[in-house]
Amino acid sequence: MIDLYTFAKSLESDSCEILVDTPMSRHTSFKAGGNADVIALPKNVNSLTVTLKSAHKNNVPVTVMGNGSNLLVKDEGIRGIVIKTTGMDPEIEVDNEIIRCSAGTSLTKLCVAALENGLTGLEFAYGIPGTVGGAVFMNAGAYGGEIKDVLKTVQHITPEFDTESADASALNLGYRKSFYSEHPEYIIATAEFKLQKGDKAEIKAKMDDLIGRRKDKQPLEFPSAGSTFKRPEGYFAGALIEQCGLKGCRIGGAEVSEKHAGFIINRYSGTASDIIELIDHVKKTVKENTGVTLEPEVKIIP
Ligand SMILES: Cc1cc2nc3c(=O)[nH]c(=O)nc-3n(C[C@H](O)[C@H](O)[C@H](O)COP(=O)(O)OP(=O)(O)OC[C@H]3O[C@@H](n4cnc5c(N)ncnc54)[C@H](O)[C@@H]3O)c2cc1C
Repeated sequence: MIDLYTFAKSLESDSCEILVDTPMSRHTSFKAGGNADVIALPKNVNSLTVTLKSAHKNNVPVTVMGNGSNLLVKDEGIRGIVIKTTGMDPEIEVDNEIIRCSAGTSLTKLCVAALENGLTGLEFAYGIPGTVGGAVFMNAGAYGGEIKDVLKTVQHITPEFDTESADASALNLGYRKSFYSEHPEYIIATAEFKLQKGDKAEIKAKMDDLIGRRKDKQPLEFPSAGSTFKRPEGYFAGALIEQCGLKGCRIGGAEVSEKHAGFIINRYSGTASDIIELIDHVKKTVKENTGVTLEPEVKIIP
């Protein structure tokens, strides 16, 4: 493998910012995790493709991320290159009822653009702190809505570095899963959503209501990755965890939130190992007490 410093320098350009030996605690909502050797922030789809190609040519391992709001990076950090999409073209195009943007666009910004253009359908996503790419990958959802309901087309980069369009109906979107979570070698570049004309005041009222509900119910004042576990069929993870007496349970700096047992929070600047140990402890206790197997929603890397 090429010397990583030389590799990083070769990628640096006006259309790609490079960070070297950087703590992932600065790039994830859990605020934990070791250093990434190199982080690249491409500014457009072309520079994203060039970065992917160059890493492949030089045998440098690649990890792709959006805003890091569903990631738990282990304390040993990430070898190779992390491609972070949040520096990508922030322009949002609106064409009648279609709204399109780069994968790195923040979902919240997209929701505000939909509101400003009197388009309804995306209100459920207001307050999910991820990018559009991360939301498509996860088929993010909340309050009865999910990306699947509004996604029309995705433009992605194939493992052969071609840019292709895929119709949402071909993307196997299901509960917190997609074609992309099944094929992480495909990289989401842009996405297009089909919304409907609506009343601006009603759209805003719904967004305000949902953000209010988040603030009431979720421990937003502490670092976390949102719901730590997927919803097991027929149950709610938070209710099972609470029922097992785990609210407030702590390992190192990680704690099961007192406010919402479905959230593990990094309350006291803990390590990724603290959080992983607590996830394992919660899983084991819930299994022993209720027979239900919890599966983490948060992606633990590497
Ligand atoms: C306070 C809080 C509340 C939350 N509430 C919700 C909620 O209500 N509903 C919900 O669904 N989630 C929620 N989440 C979780 C998280 O915000 C979502 O999963 C979000 O969609 C992740 O987006 P991201 O850009 O941060 O992705 P990241 O965490 O950076 O990455 C997630 C996964 O997507 C992949 N990925 C990201 N971008 C791309 C790309 N361009 N191409 C290919 N793969 C990519 C990554 O490799 C990784 O596997 C919450 C998180 C927090 C911290």
